[in-house]
Amino acid sequence: MYRIYGHQSILKIFNNIISQNKISNAYLFVGEEGLGKRFMAEYFAMMVNCKGEGVKPCFKCSSCVKMLNKNHPDVFFIDPEGDSIKVETPRYITNEINIKPYESYKKIFIIDKVNKMTIAAQNAFLKTLEEPPLYGLFILITPQPEGLLPTIVSRCNMIRFNKENENVIKEYLMGEYNIPEKEAKTLAHIADGNFEEADKLVSKEYLDFRKNTLEEIEKIFKMKEFEVLDEFWFFDKNKENIEEILKIFLSYVRDLLIFKVTKDTTFIRNIDFLDRIQKLESKLTVKKLSTIINRIEQFNSQLHSNVNYQLAVENLLLDIVGGL
Ligand SMILES: [Zn+2]
Repeated sequence: MYRIYGHQSILKIFNNIISQNKISNAYLFVGEEGLGKRFMAEYFAMMVNCKGEGVKPCFKCSSCVKMLNKNHPDVFFIDPEGDSIKVETPRYITNEINIKPYESYKKIFIIDKVNKMTIAAQNAFLKTLEEPPLYGLFILITPQPEGLLPTIVSRCNMIRFNKENENVIKEYLMGEYNIPEKEAKTLAHIADGNFEEADKLVSKEYLDFRKNTLEEIEKIFKMKEFEVLDEFWFFDKNKENIEEILKIFLSYVRDLLIFKVTKDTTFIRNIDFLDRIQKLESKLTVKKLSTIINRIEQFNSQLHSNVNYQLAVENLLLDIVGGL
């Protein structure tokens, strides 16, 4: 069964666009990763090209069926190749869009992670975006509009995606994964309104990884400066997942900080570690915790430059246990 969880305000916008038949040439879907932007882009494409008479999408007409089977001849998905969308891609789009749709009202290009477009590619794409044929429709998806040429952003109708309500994520976990309500409620809280985070938390393997990481962090917090370098093995072993480790690390330190300042448990994300957060919090100062947050963020950006991994990890560890 095809079911949409949440996205109420987005659906309202889509319904208005379709019922008033005011479909623009370009939309920009903006919002953090994991909120369902791509899923909703496909849904919108299905609505636009639906040939049914009543409520759209009808899920029954030839167009809807092709969308569901992901083989619609007039809907194109563009993704980054490697880490970027290079200038060849807009050239391909320009060629393709000049050919009339095969069987549909609109020829639709869904460009995911459009923020990965190089500046040269954006400039090439802009020409097509400025004068698309009437049947052309672009849906651009990005976590943030920064990094896109202002001339591209201004040509698009922006649709913002926000975190979903915790109940929506709970329903999603129950409906899509058959998770019992009590467990789904806890996982939904940890997922913090994000479908992709919820997807991850369903896997036993990921839960183990998260638990190991949280325990490693607690261990580090209790160490002395001369001991901490021994913990490099953990970061070495999990080098492939270092960004995920940092994400877990950050959310845990934020929890410690928030609890320290507010003493309110409702704001704690890693709710399954609540009693340990309460114990550890008293051993750390606000200043120390906020400095650690900055230091992790700094390390995160170092990862993308050509830094010596071991040296960077060791410096981070020393800073965390040291005086900073
Ligand atoms: Zn249909």
